[in-house]
Amino acid sequence: MLFMLPFLSIKSITAKYADEIHEAVSRVVDSGWYLQGQENAAFERNYAEYIDTKHCVGVANGLDALVWILRAYKELGVMQDGDEVIVPANTYIASILAITENHLVPVLVEPRYDTLEMDDTLVEAKITDKTKAVMIVHLYGRCAYSDRIGELCKKYRLKLIEDNAQAHGCRFNERKTGSLGDAAGHSFYPGKNLGAMGDGGAVTTNDGELAECVRSLANYGSAKKYVFKYCGRNSRLDEIQAAVLNVKLRHLDSDNRSRQQVAAYYYDHIKNPLVAMPSRLPDKNNVYHLFPVFCKRRDDLQQYLTDNGVQTLIHYPIPPHKQECYKEWNGISLPITEKIHDEELSLPISPVMTIDEAKQVVELVNRFENK
Ligand SMILES: *Cc1c(COP(=O)(O)O)cnc(C)c1O
Repeated sequence: MLFMLPFLSIKSITAKYADEIHEAVSRVVDSGWYLQGQENAAFERNYAEYIDTKHCVGVANGLDALVWILRAYKELGVMQDGDEVIVPANTYIASILAITENHLVPVLVEPRYDTLEMDDTLVEAKITDKTKAVMIVHLYGRCAYSDRIGELCKKYRLKLIEDNAQAHGCRFNERKTGSLGDAAGHSFYPGKNLGAMGDGGAVTTNDGELAECVRSLANYGSAKKYVFKYCGRNSRLDEIQAAVLNVKLRHLDSDNRSRQQVAAYYYDHIKNPLVAMPSRLPDKNNVYHLFPVFCKRRDDLQQYLTDNGVQTLIHYPIPPHKQECYKEWNGISLPITEKIHDEELSLPISPVMTIDEAKQVVELVNRFENK
């Protein structure tokens, strides 16, 4: 095969910053201090400053970040078992798991087909006496916030929680996603825009009480050694991950710009009536964690691209309400969500992908035809 393009080469991204990463990891190894040390403290400071929130708490992964936000609201008396959280139906399962793990009820709202974000015109009708929060998900790297959502949360006194696992560095106007609501969960899974060398996550918030509660929950429920206020868990970010994240954070904006250049090339050059793209946002509102396209013959398109050396992935093949773990919802009909899951295909995009590679992908996509 002439052309071989992986979906994402994390190895190449690491290689780009290898010297700095090796230096940072060695520093931790030599320090003899592997948890809750200087690297965590520095990362929490740096990331809070980057997102522009008063607080950042490092945790073990992105799912836990979301779990701890909701759990902290329960511990603080803001929510209780059975309360409802409005959430987009087309999100990654982790957003929903964080809600159900806390014995809260996810209220699934359809996205818009052209934006892939939760349809904010459908939200108000879903609000009941039990609704305590709206969780928006900046899926694919697209900003999912809107003034309408912000106003609804104010009007009905709902907490606005952001799932910012896929959109580090994205903005709404001048504000970063992760600072738009009451609290945000971030994932540093290796494949994310800001990726660690293992699992990692963080909560950002301006609410000091919430931050303190999250910090305790992620440390066995303890703020003071051997004194346990909550039944927490061990969910800490380790020093090696924090050190790596401190390096990667310095390069995040330039990495995002590289993604935006590839995305711009796709938007400007993909021209095939069989392949649709979501609405194009200004660059500051999209950091292109993924580049989704839509095709009625998605599986054929994927096979054709595979045959021609281009690796693609589907985000995601099965929506949460059709998963076995949520059997009770399998009968619900959410046609737009289901259509997205049937038609979506993610083209390669990454900070190490070249415009030349994007050009090859475009030429192939444009030659895909009806059989
Ligand atoms: C990756 C991801 C998460 C979970 O993050 P982990 O670090 O893998 O636990 C949550 N929400 C969304 C939208 C994600 O993409």
